[in-house]
Amino acid sequence: MTHYTGLIAHYKDRLPVSETTRLISLGEGNTPLIQLHHIPRIIGKNVDIYVKYEGLNPTGSFKDRGMTMAVTKAVEEGSQAIICASTGNTSAAAAAYAVRAGIKAFVLIPEGKIALGKLAQTLMYGAQIIQINGNFDKGMALVKEVANHAPVTIVNSINPFRLEGQKTAAFEIVDELGTAPDYHCLPVGNAGNITAYWKGYSEYATDSATHKAVTNKRPVMCGYQAAGAAPFTAGHMIDNPETIATAIRIGHPQSWDLAWNVQRESNGWFDSLTDAEILVAQKMLSQFEGVFCEPASAASLAGAIRDIKNGKIPEGSRIVCTLTGNGLKDPDTAISQCEETRPVTIDASLDAVKRAILDNM
Ligand SMILES: *Cc1c(COP(=O)(O)O)cnc(C)c1O
Repeated sequence: MTHYTGLIAHYKDRLPVSETTRLISLGEGNTPLIQLHHIPRIIGKNVDIYVKYEGLNPTGSFKDRGMTMAVTKAVEEGSQAIICASTGNTSAAAAAYAVRAGIKAFVLIPEGKIALGKLAQTLMYGAQIIQINGNFDKGMALVKEVANHAPVTIVNSINPFRLEGQKTAAFEIVDELGTAPDYHCLPVGNAGNITAYWKGYSEYATDSATHKAVTNKRPVMCGYQAAGAAPFTAGHMIDNPETIATAIRIGHPQSWDLAWNVQRESNGWFDSLTDAEILVAQKMLSQFEGVFCEPASAASLAGAIRDIKNGKIPEGSRIVCTLTGNGLKDPDTAISQCEETRPVTIDASLDAVKRAILDNM
């Protein structure tokens, strides 16, 4: 008998699968919800902040939640190959789940603009990597076109099964806290994830069997972009997005209308942060809480901190920030931020090691 773990097995009553569906899973989901113990004190505000650490999924990002569902359905529908455009994490997830399913994965990535860890993973999983001399938005347009000319299933977040899988993160948060938080903060690229969380919170407010409302509590949704790649704060698509947070280096978000609905329905907002602000939050999280996320992920915390400080998020609130990817994905950006803490080299002698300790106590 096949032993299933992972989020589809756990939430199958609320996902589009049947008893006979072959689940393509790597045990994704059930990620830690970590309460921050030091940052609220440092910013001097009485708030409860939790981070949903999605970097602990099997390929190191939340994309696994969507990919288990998208690949499960692609296989169920008889597909032999999947394709995506990617800033890195989608390609790693697509590649891994394709291996698991025994099908082929094609990934289009912007040359030179994907973080080292993501490239390493995608190479190791053996996906067919197609590098383009254009950005994510260009790759996405090409993927949509080529899917009309070749027998491949698109597994970007325009595939509705991706959002189905990703909505389970909201289920987990409600299961753990016993209720939805007051505010939910996310980094926004294509805006699929913010849409999926809202879907999850909304569906979980209703009993799956009786369809009766069980609560009216849903969070205010706060979406944060990088200043150089902020079409939602600009109010229009932008053509040459730039940010160090490569996972959200997107100027033409695919879930544009859906995400604006989320903003309106939840009374939420979009805002943007400079790369410097994003990196400060990334480092703060590592140095004060012991949680290492990738730059894009830190946009959620950077935005939350700013809006707590300015009072837009009031004291007494319970806030969840999604940390979308693992810090190990982008070692270059991490190391380049730690110039002053670079390791020193000393003699391999007891005396020198002793001095190195006592001088630094
Ligand atoms: C994909 C991704 C995002 C953006 O998610 P969207 O659904 O495109 O808004 C943010 N952070 C990381 C690490 C990602 O991989």
